[in-house]
Amino acid sequence: MYAPAGVRTSSDLPIADTMKAWVLGGPDELLTTRKPVPVPKRAEVLVRIDAVAICATDLEILHYGSPAKVQGGLPFNKNFTFGHEYMGTVAALGPGVDEFRIGERVTVEVHAGCGQCKRCRQGMYTACLNYGLNYGEVDKGHRANGFTSDGGFAEYAVNNINTLIRVPDEMSDEEATLVVTAGTSMYGLTELGGLIAGESVVVLGPGPIGLLAVGVAKALGANPVILTGTRDNRLEIGRELGADRVVNVRNEDAVAVVREMTGGIGADYVIECAGTPDAINEAGRMVNRGGKICLAAFPHDPVLVDLANLVRNNVYVYGIRGEGRSATHRAMAFMASKRFDARRIHTHSFALDDLPTALRYAKDRVEDAIKVVVKARGADALREAAE
Ligand SMILES: [Zn+2]
Ligand SMILES: [Zn+2]
Repeated sequence: MYAPAGVRTSSDLPIADTMKAWVLGGPDELLTTRKPVPVPKRAEVLVRIDAVAICATDLEILHYGSPAKVQGGLPFNKNFTFGHEYMGTVAALGPGVDEFRIGERVTVEVHAGCGQCKRCRQGMYTACLNYGLNYGEVDKGHRANGFTSDGGFAEYAVNNINTLIRVPDEMSDEEATLVVTAGTSMYGLTELGGLIAGESVVVLGPGPIGLLAVGVAKALGANPVILTGTRDNRLEIGRELGADRVVNVRNEDAVAVVREMTGGIGADYVIECAGTPDAINEAGRMVNRGGKICLAAFPHDPVLVDLANLVRNNVYVYGIRGEGRSATHRAMAFMASKRFDARRIHTHSFALDDLPTALRYAKDRVEDAIKVVVKARGADALREAAE
């Protein structure tokens, strides 16, 4: 039985010594194994994982290894468990933890950061200067679960208390896994300096972050919110999340639509979530003078950028990584008060045992998959979830 020194457990939630976990073998190779259940330290808890959403970054990690970084290098063949958009139940408390109780439902943000570098001290823990330094003699205590430390495709994970967000009773496990995605959209708007009600926003690309960026921007009072993309079914979901206008770029000139809807001057903010090579130039033609562009996606290869257009028009460009400055808490506040319905982007659920199938659905967008969720407690849990 699991009973590490200094760790509080409860007979209501018995924990075995070992757990089922998926690990990365070589590139594109997933293996199941058993691992010891991890032990929370000071300011950490053990989370029993109940559900995990699959992210495009998980597909990147499975194939390329990066941006995961384990023991200073690529994560392959290191017994590494990925998966970072999970929620679950607090199962054990590390020494001194009284901020949470065993049995509470929580969802998590990815990055704990080291807590001691300049960026962590500024709340920019997703850009921690000690990223990935959590091993051997350079151990700074940095954690980014599913990137630099073990993540959620397993029965349990350890989380710093600062990465936990309480889940309201009436919110489903699946919806709770979407807080990280909504938090990323929220962080983008935070890094742009915050949005003032009545300002105009264009979102490029109706992927999960783009769709929830529509919901977050609308909840913050943006007007109008314009969403562009190529798939009508996704644009329709964007409309349900609050977009005032959607543009299928196969049929319409998005720049012309934006200019027409903003009195000819362009939008105050453009949030780029498409990652196509010309997206930044398109954003540059949509934003107004002195406006701001947030880059939440990127193409793999270097791209040609019309810098003169950006400089002459005093356009600000911000890259964002993840969901810093406690943006997930603000996203949860909106979701808990039903300011937008994040569930619209959840399309499929599988049991954790069927992770390879779930990943394939996400990668190949089988049956128009957007967010695919795995339920971590076997086929029984999934059957319960379906009822
Ligand atoms: Zn993600
Ligand atoms: Zn740091």
